[in-house]
Amino acid sequence: MPDIRRIDARHFMTPTRIGGHDFTCNPYVGCGHGCIYCYAKSYVDQPGRPAPWGSYVDVKRYPNFDIPRNTGSKSLFFSSATDCYQPVERDEHLTRDILEAIRESALRISILTKSALVTRDLDLFKQMRHVEVGFSISMFDEAAAFVEPGASRPTDRISALRVLREAGISTHVFVAPILPGISDPIGLIDACAPYVEYMMFDTLNLRDPENKIAVFRHLLARKPELLSLYRNIFEQGDKTWYNDLREQIVEHAKTRGVPIRYIYDRR
Ligand code: SF4
Repeated sequence: MPDIRRIDARHFMTPTRIGGHDFTCNPYVGCGHGCIYCYAKSYVDQPGRPAPWGSYVDVKRYPNFDIPRNTGSKSLFFSSATDCYQPVERDEHLTRDILEAIRESALRISILTKSALVTRDLDLFKQMRHVEVGFSISMFDEAAAFVEPGASRPTDRISALRVLREAGISTHVFVAPILPGISDPIGLIDACAPYVEYMMFDTLNLRDPENKIAVFRHLLARKPELLSLYRNIFEQGDKTWYNDLREQIVEHAKTRGVPIRYIYDRR
């Protein structure tokens, strides 16, 4: 269980340009999923939190859940710097409280998570005008147990995806970040095709030195045979592996009839 602290926050909606959204909502600071490649940890403020990423969570206290005026049907993204359905949400239900408060609004709600807990709020989603749920999945269970230790197992995420889809909720899968030799984007197209409106794909970014150390440490401990490939890609700048994969993804998605809404550029 992560170390939990409560902090005051001014508003639950913050303007953003991430992913083409208008606002983002990050109910928590920190994330108990503890993914080794997490980009959020490099830009989330961590005052007084020397503990490693994944071991603490700050729960925000908002004065109210008022929606700013004139937002109309703008888009609100959950979440850009945390996972709003991470394990503490089960007891804190802050994400649920926010969704309940805004369920009658015209806002277009977009959720991206690595947690099957999101199905708990299906009753709310059914009452909302615009909501879509995306799952971030880039590998299967055995690999994810070490790389995304606190998140729901990918097979549980896919089961949750199916539940939402069969209930009529808009769903998609974001296969990201793709870790060479560890992720399985082709297998995920097969596994997710029946339950998605579209899929997206992105590469691994190791520009943050801490992330690079964490990923290389993981390789040393569990996948030393991949070290030279990672050095080629992330130190020598060899683009071949991702370019070849891109072509395979595009071809395979076509054969499965899965629209691709975003895929990384040829590098
Ligand atoms: S689920 Fe997202 S925010 Fe949470 S640790 Fe993983 S990458 Fe970071």
